[in-house]
Amino acid sequence: MNLRATLKDKKRIVVKIGTSSLTHVETGRLNLTRLEILVRELSDLRNQGKEVVLVSSGAIGVGSAALGMNGKPSHLGQKQACAAVGQARLMMIYQKLFMEYNQMSGQILMTKNTLLDDLNRYNACNTFQSLLEMGVIPIVNENDTVSTYEIQFGDNDTLSAIVAALIGADLLILLSDIDGLFSDDPRTNPQAQFIDEVDSLDEHFLKMGKESTGSKVGTGGMATKLSAAKIATSAGADMVIANGRDPHVLHKIVEGEDYGTLFAAKPKEEFYLLDYIKNM
Ligand code: GLU
Repeated sequence: MNLRATLKDKKRIVVKIGTSSLTHVETGRLNLTRLEILVRELSDLRNQGKEVVLVSSGAIGVGSAALGMNGKPSHLGQKQACAAVGQARLMMIYQKLFMEYNQMSGQILMTKNTLLDDLNRYNACNTFQSLLEMGVIPIVNENDTVSTYEIQFGDNDTLSAIVAALIGADLLILLSDIDGLFSDDPRTNPQAQFIDEVDSLDEHFLKMGKESTGSKVGTGGMATKLSAAKIATSAGADMVIANGRDPHVLHKIVEGEDYGTLFAAKPKEEFYLLDYIKNM
């Protein structure tokens, strides 16, 4: 059977959206139109009976715009202060929009320590499980106000893959500012070929990952997306990288339409999440 067509049957879906897709480039302020479409799409996936988790970036970006800063600050303390303001603002808006669709949402903030510590990890897993059983959409971010350089994930691509592995999701969708995986960076090489499907994420594909992000506000480039794909597919989830410019792609992807790059799950019997987290 065609792999795309099997996406219809996915039951537990993690969707990650990056800062560049959530905000206007010119001002760094929230793109409310896009946010509304995202929330409606996620609510509709819930209405189809699917369990949905949103991993949303934007805390630092939204906070720095709210505080009138010109771009993201580079100083850690200031970043954390921006995150404190921005995360609360983001959640306020998400909850308002989800309420319009009669949909419950809740916040889960994680640090690397949450996952390294057995008891914390076990508790986090239980919280996800209970929220999903109650029909709530968990909205996840890194706890940027307290994570410091030594313990931070740094990018939500990796965090979303870890969440997908932790809760046994069967699909992870990364909404980014690029259409998917290309054989080379399409911003600098017009000959770059678009890759529709990756059956096995070997060295050939991993080499296509570029460290940098093209966005001024996002953190993860293609390299972090490919390492997220490694985690998600080894844990048994399919993963799609698609352009978040139009969040309507969400239902199209889940209906099996050809959007973005699809990475096929390759569950590894020896997959052990802690090994990935410790090596980060
Ligand atoms: N946790 C960061 C934030 O909310 C984003 C990390 C990322 O861009 O992946 O601002």
